[in-house]
Amino acid sequence: MVSWPPVCISVPSVVTSAQIKKRARELGFDACGIAPAAAHPELSFFREWLDRGYAGEMAYLHRSADRRADVRHVVASARTVIVTATVYNTDRPYSTECKDANRARIARYAWGDDYHDVIGARLEALLAWMRASSPEPFDARAYVDTGPIQERVYAQYAGVGWIGKNTCVINPALGSWIFLGEIICSLALDVDAPSLDQCGTCALCLDACPTHAIVAPGVLDSTRCISYLTIELRGDLKKEDRAAIGSHVYGCDICQEVCPWNAVAPRSDDPAWQPRPAWDRVDLLTLSRRSDAELGAALDGSAMQRTKLQGLRRNVAAALESL
Ligand code: SF4
Ligand code: SF4
Repeated sequence: MVSWPPVCISVPSVVTSAQIKKRARELGFDACGIAPAAAHPELSFFREWLDRGYAGEMAYLHRSADRRADVRHVVASARTVIVTATVYNTDRPYSTECKDANRARIARYAWGDDYHDVIGARLEALLAWMRASSPEPFDARAYVDTGPIQERVYAQYAGVGWIGKNTCVINPALGSWIFLGEIICSLALDVDAPSLDQCGTCALCLDACPTHAIVAPGVLDSTRCISYLTIELRGDLKKEDRAAIGSHVYGCDICQEVCPWNAVAPRSDDPAWQPRPAWDRVDLLTLSRRSDAELGAALDGSAMQRTKLQGLRRNVAAALESL
C-alpha cells in the first residue's frame, strides 16, 4: 500500500569543510583552513625550546607541555583542527617610520579590544553553527592564543600561512598582522595542503631585531625579546632590560614591520581593532601623566590588560629613562 502524500524522510547533510569556510567568512574571519590532527614533526621542537630556557619565566608553558605536544592530548577524539585568521592591521604608520623618540611604542595587536574576547565569540558562533548543522554530535574545543595548542604549526598545516623566520605566521595575501583561532574537533573534514615557506633568502627580521632575540631562523629566545620583557616578565626590570626596551611600553612589532610580506598588508576597518584614543600615537610623557582612573578605563576590555596598570607604569618609567 502506498501512502499519500508520500512520507518524506529528511536526511541531514554532513557539515563540510567548504561550508565551514563559507560560514567563517560570513562571521568576519579573513582566512580559514583545516589541518589534520596528526603528529606533525614540527611539534616536537617545543620541548627542546623549553629545555634551552627560551621560555624564561613563562612557567605555564612548561606545565602545559604535554598537552601542547599534540592536540589529541586536549581532545582525545580529535581528527582535524580548523584554523582561522583575522586581520588586525589598521591605517597607522609603522613604528619604524616614526622618528620621534618620545613616541610610546605599543604593539599593533594591542591597540583595540581584547582579541581573546572578540575572536573567541566569533569562534564560538562558528562552533555553534557547526553543531546545529551536523547530524551527529561531535567533540570540539575552541581556543584563541592561550589554549594548550601550538597554533602556528596547525596554521601552517591548514594552509593559513607559513611560520616565518620571525616566528610569526605569514599568509601570502594577508601578511602577518593576523589573529589566529582554532577549533579542535572530532569531525573527519577534508584538510588543506600545508603552506610553503616563502621567506627564501630574506633575513631582514633577524637583522632588525634590536635585542638579537631571533637566535636562528624561526627560533626565538623569549628572554631577550622586548615583547616578553614588557608583557610576560613580572617584577622589576633589570638595568640591561630597561635599556633594551627603549620606547617600547607594550610589545614590539619591529620584526613584523620590516617583513616584505607586510609592506602592502591589507588593513581592517573592524571597529574592534581600531586604536583606542588613549594609545593612539601617544607620547611617553603624556602616558606617564595619565591618572590611574584614565589608564584603568583604557585598559578595560583591552588586549593590554595582561600587564595590568602596574606593569604598564613600570614599562613607561623604563622607557622614559631611555629618552
Ligand atoms: S618582537 Fe622585537 S625584540 Fe622580539 S624578536 Fe621581534 S624584533 Fe626582536
Ligand atoms: S622578514 Fe624576511 S625572513 Fe623574516 S619573516 Fe619576513 S620574509 Fe621571512
